Amino acid sequence: MSPRIALLGFSIECNRFAPVSVEEDFTDRVLLRGQAMLDDARSARPRMLAELPGFCADMDAAGPWEPVPITLAMTAPGGPVEQGFFDRLMFEWEIGLREAGRLDGVYCVMHGAGLSTGDDDPEGTVQALVRRIVGPEVPVVASYDLHANISEADISTVDALIGYRSNPHMDMRERGAESAQVLRRLIGGLRTVIRKVRLPIVPPPVTMLTGKDAHNRPYGELIDLGQDLMQREPWAGRVVNVSVMGGFAYADTPFNGLTAVVTATDAEAAEAVAREIAIAGWARRPHFVPVITPLDDAVRLAVGTADRNGPALIFADVADNPGGGGRGNTMFILDAFMRAAVRDALVGVIHDPALAAEAHALGEGATFTARFNRAGPGGFSHPFSAAAKVLRLHSGAIACRRGIFAGGIVDIGPAAALDLGGIVVIVATVREQCADPAFFEAFDCDIGAARAVVVKSRGHFRGGFDEFFRHEQVIEVDAPGLTTPLLQHFTWSNLPRPVIPLDAGVTWEPAA
Ligand SMILES: [Zn+2]
Repeated sequence: MSPRIALLGFSIECNRFAPVSVEEDFTDRVLLRGQAMLDDARSARPRMLAELPGFCADMDAAGPWEPVPITLAMTAPGGPVEQGFFDRLMFEWEIGLREAGRLDGVYCVMHGAGLSTGDDDPEGTVQALVRRIVGPEVPVVASYDLHANISEADISTVDALIGYRSNPHMDMRERGAESAQVLRRLIGGLRTVIRKVRLPIVPPPVTMLTGKDAHNRPYGELIDLGQDLMQREPWAGRVVNVSVMGGFAYADTPFNGLTAVVTATDAEAAEAVAREIAIAGWARRPHFVPVITPLDDAVRLAVGTADRNGPALIFADVADNPGGGGRGNTMFILDAFMRAAVRDALVGVIHDPALAAEAHALGEGATFTARFNRAGPGGFSHPFSAAAKVLRLHSGAIACRRGIFAGGIVDIGPAAALDLGGIVVIVATVREQCADPAFFEAFDCDIGAARAVVVKSRGHFRGGFDEFFRHEQVIEVDAPGLTTPLLQHFTWSNLPRPVIPLDAGVTWEPAA
């Protein structure tokens, strides 16, 4: 009998300090129900992230199965989700599961750093609902982003938790496939337990790289250790998955903290492996303090790129990363580069619907005064004006080619490339992090010829722009913003304290 598998998902990374995310933020991206969800997962260029496509491809290849797609709500990072909308989603998942008939398994596509305006742990709430309806015997597998903050409910309600192991997230499709493989084992009779160990460390995102070219990769080493321990005696064959979750500081929850999550066939194995990773994480605690480049130094470096004997550079506006809830519209770097007369520069992607619309109304070739953030100051954004020429217009559906969005379509709405006199700026209607070279190339911008490229992205740009810039050519810039890795700039309400890197004298001992 082919297995009947319910499919559902709730995926958003929430920055407590960003404006509330509403239903429209999901309908703009991915809010898919029933067959439409399956069709997108199986399409050549899905709009959704790659976990469910990877899951479906693996299931399709393994033999007959009956998918029961319910609802997938997935969007770009933002503020906490408006409670009324989240409650309506809960109702949809509940009805879908109740009307599903016989189910042999459930796959939940999660992120793990979600918030709703009334709930600090919406993933735990969704999974508890699933468990309540399907009962204790039906296997439930959830996949998580490694920026997940792991609560007790997140692990107690599922049979396996599968976290990303790559940052930038190049393994979403593989983790979806792994979720399918583990779910099939569970349907076949495998029984599991999940254990976690949390450290009093809230890693700023810039300290969580896994790429082998990063000079300092304490987090990557922990992930490698987990994979190594799985293969080693006496745990080989007993450990189903090791996920090292770095968490997302800006969600500001009581359960923030670097957490080792181990799914195993017995509690002894799960506890021992999680404990060993935590001990290794604690030993690396000095490396979770971020070191980034002051804006003045970044400007000097950008001016210096005019010397073509030196390397071109890419400047990451890590503090205004739409991929972490940033609004994608702060002007600090652009303003400073304009004042310093930086040339042969590309800047993207600035979120400014009014400016994008004006550029479309004027047409390619038009010259005008580009007024950024014309509605006035708000948050970390402020108005900024410059003489501009409309170089290229685009309807906004960008075919992504490299990095976390590779193979998918990301729609940034009506967009324009504006030449501010040696600095070309991409302006878009939909807020999106600049993680793919296609966000420039769609406007015929030549990244290889640019001397200085500024991206509104914290780290995922590395997976897309690595063909132009080696690790040594990346400058993480310290400018104000909602996603600054300098965590002392925020007023925290919920983080467990004391915690590294905010407090001195933090202690931790592994449980006996
Ligand atoms: Zn992430």
